Amino acid sequence: MNSKEIKHQKSFAQRLILLFPLSLEKEFIDFYLKRNLTQLRRSVIIGWALYSVFGILDRVIYSEFIKEFWLIRYAILSPLAIGFYIYLRLNKKPSDIFIQSFYSLIIFIAGLGLITMLVITSEDKTQPYFEGIMLTIFYAYIFTGLRFYFATASALAITLCYFLALSYSLYLPVPLQINNTFGLLAANMVGIFGSYSMESYIRRDFLQSRQLESERSKLKKENVELTIQSRIDPLTNLLNRRAFEETLANEIKRAERHEYPLSLLILDIDNFKLYNDIYGHLKGDECLKKVASVLLKYARRAGDTVARYGGEEFVILLPGTSINVTEDIAERIRQEIELMKILHIGNPPINVVSVSIGGISLIPSKELKEDDIIRAADEAMYTAKRDGKNRVVIVGQLLK
Ligand code: GH3
Ligand code: MG
Ligand code: MG
Repeated sequence: MNSKEIKHQKSFAQRLILLFPLSLEKEFIDFYLKRNLTQLRRSVIIGWALYSVFGILDRVIYSEFIKEFWLIRYAILSPLAIGFYIYLRLNKKPSDIFIQSFYSLIIFIAGLGLITMLVITSEDKTQPYFEGIMLTIFYAYIFTGLRFYFATASALAITLCYFLALSYSLYLPVPLQINNTFGLLAANMVGIFGSYSMESYIRRDFLQSRQLESERSKLKKENVELTIQSRIDPLTNLLNRRAFEETLANEIKRAERHEYPLSLLILDIDNFKLYNDIYGHLKGDECLKKVASVLLKYARRAGDTVARYGGEEFVILLPGTSINVTEDIAERIRQEIELMKILHIGNPPINVVSVSIGGISLIPSKELKEDDIIRAADEAMYTAKRDGKNRVVIVGQLLK
């Protein structure tokens, strides 16, 4: 038997005895309570109303014992039921064990009340109370929303008390005794079966919804992971072009609203095709990572964004940075990369890896599009290339 089968068998056995392992059982009880609270409340009110309305019957048929009967119905049962209902209404987080045990107790008292009435009434008029007891038993099993063990406990306790009364203080003709005994046993059997199947069904429902929940949260996690992945360049771990374009659009709007300058640098590695040709693609990848790590050092403020824009091209977005500071940052980046002294004999005259940086720094206006600002920085970068590479060109306004 594999572990899945064992698990399945185990959960089947646990469902059979209507008891999960402790921690799961706790979760189930919460689930059960949430699901059945309305039913519980409703059943309390309906049960109480029925129990009270039958007081009319006492008045019509059994008026000689009306005091005792009404005492049971209105002075004992009503306060219990109404108090319990108020507790269920007012309490935001009612206690499950209290609900189950107290409700079972109320039902037991209701049953006991009917047995008392049955005992004290005249012998030829007992049958309506017996029917009341049957009704109470069905009510406990099927209608209350009590869990199986609690419903069964209250119904069986009522049944037992009836048999005790029958043995000690009640005279009924034998055929009626037999009829009532059969009736009660059958009511309990039907009730036990009904209540058991209902709880077993709810337990299965609970397991399924829990499984669904865990699958859903797994999917959500995978989705988040996927979203992150779709925004990150796997080689350098910088944002990718897509993520950068989103950020740029937002930052342009923000800078325009608050009227502060926005700077964009585009950085391109010089003669990188040759670097790949000479040292191989893997070395080329390593070089890209090293350059990326330098860029990250210069984008430390909140809102600063570094991204890999294309193959060996990077962008740095610096909101709220003036043109002078931008020029300074770009120059320091250029220098630091040169000073890493990554050998590149295809990049004369310095023969180490270098970068050309173009940039723009401006306060965005309404008409300004993302493309315009990227194009302006790109053109500045190509100017740097044309002027001999390994240099910085920053412009302060859009080139026409
Ligand atoms: P320039 O100085 O004018 O920029 O010349 P260049 O050779 O750098 O420019 P070009 O656009 O001709 O070449 C870019 C090269 O970058 C081509 C490609 O082999 C390399 N490249 C792009 N992406 C990657 C990558 O992910 N890994 C590596 N190793 N190389 C890449
Ligand atoms: Mg390029
Ligand atoms: Mg290049």
